[in-house]
Amino acid sequence: MQKLELYIHIPFCVQKCAYCDFLSAPANDAAKAEYVDALKKEIQRYREVASSYQVSSVFVGGGTPSILSCEQMGEIFKMLRQVFTIDRDAEITIEANPGTVTEEKLEGWKQAGINRISFGLQSVNNEELKMLGRIHTYEEFRESYDMARQAGFDNINIDLISAIPGQTVKSWEHTLRTVAELHPEHISAYSLIIEEGTRFYQWYGKGQTDQEKYPPLPDEDAERQMYERTEGILEEYGFHRYEISNYAREGKECRHNLGYWSRVEYLGIGLGASSFISNTRYHLCTDMISYIERIGSGEDLREEIEVLTKEDAMEEFMFLGLRRMQGISGTQFENCFGNTIEEIYGDVIEKLEQEKMLEVKEDKIRLTKRGIDVSNYVFCEFLL
Ligand code: SF4
Repeated sequence: MQKLELYIHIPFCVQKCAYCDFLSAPANDAAKAEYVDALKKEIQRYREVASSYQVSSVFVGGGTPSILSCEQMGEIFKMLRQVFTIDRDAEITIEANPGTVTEEKLEGWKQAGINRISFGLQSVNNEELKMLGRIHTYEEFRESYDMARQAGFDNINIDLISAIPGQTVKSWEHTLRTVAELHPEHISAYSLIIEEGTRFYQWYGKGQTDQEKYPPLPDEDAERQMYERTEGILEEYGFHRYEISNYAREGKECRHNLGYWSRVEYLGIGLGASSFISNTRYHLCTDMISYIERIGSGEDLREEIEVLTKEDAMEEFMFLGLRRMQGISGTQFENCFGNTIEEIYGDVIEKLEQEKMLEVKEDKIRLTKRGIDVSNYVFCEFLL
């Protein structure tokens, strides 16, 4: 049977963070209950699809999945297991916001088969957390983290953000070291991007004139130093970089994400969730009212359906695969597409190698340090 990854979207949060443009919003208990019912109905729609697949990983993301009660999460997983065949050793991750974790929920997650927690911490500095609009302090995160360890979770990721307004290089280093000393299995470290539609965009977006009212964003030089020191500091603590923004202890790389970068098929369930299945990409409707109505009436939830051409698939193979530090294999490219990588990308690879952006060793092609720094430029070169 073919391998499939599942993504389940929970679009609720206690409050909206200042930098966040994800599909999520605060909601009352009735709205959450209605959504969970709809989600269970949606899962049942996939009985036929599910029969040809074996699920290798499940990722419950959001939003804040940990906002749901343990009964609700239990019901979702009961339905998933009724419909899908999930590998016995599947990696099953839940995203958790430290302000919403309880012993009871942790116990419920274990019973549901969840074996990995991804904590959205972002910073150990409480001023920075406040600036981001997070609902928790570092101390509250520590309580949640310790509770998760006590409950037996031995695979934990911690998400961090650099280049927060008011943040200094020293403060970022302190965050990295403090978190690394907790010995999580995995750390994701992203640089803040000011996205349209967020509070930060109103404060710091293009053309804003009253920026002096708010703490300044770190300047380019500070941002670069934060970025450059991340890998070295995390290496000191035994984490290796396996993707542009992701670091793990040996053997603890996120299997769900590795699958995504290797173009394993995945099915997204829930409001706005994206899928890549049967060579087609699409996302589900993003409007809650429409989602609930369409579930009720049995209507199709899919939007922006795109069947990939061979060229699309080759481009994706390159820029998703090159995100991984191990790079891509020429043999695998040929097995997938029936053309050698030299036939399609020979000139581009040669040019990027001369520019010291790519390193070619036997069958493997990967980004150099310089290539990682300007990865978006490199990826654009592979557009056909
Ligand atoms: S908790 Fe996460 S999903 Fe929710 S608003 Fe904050 S950043 Fe966005």
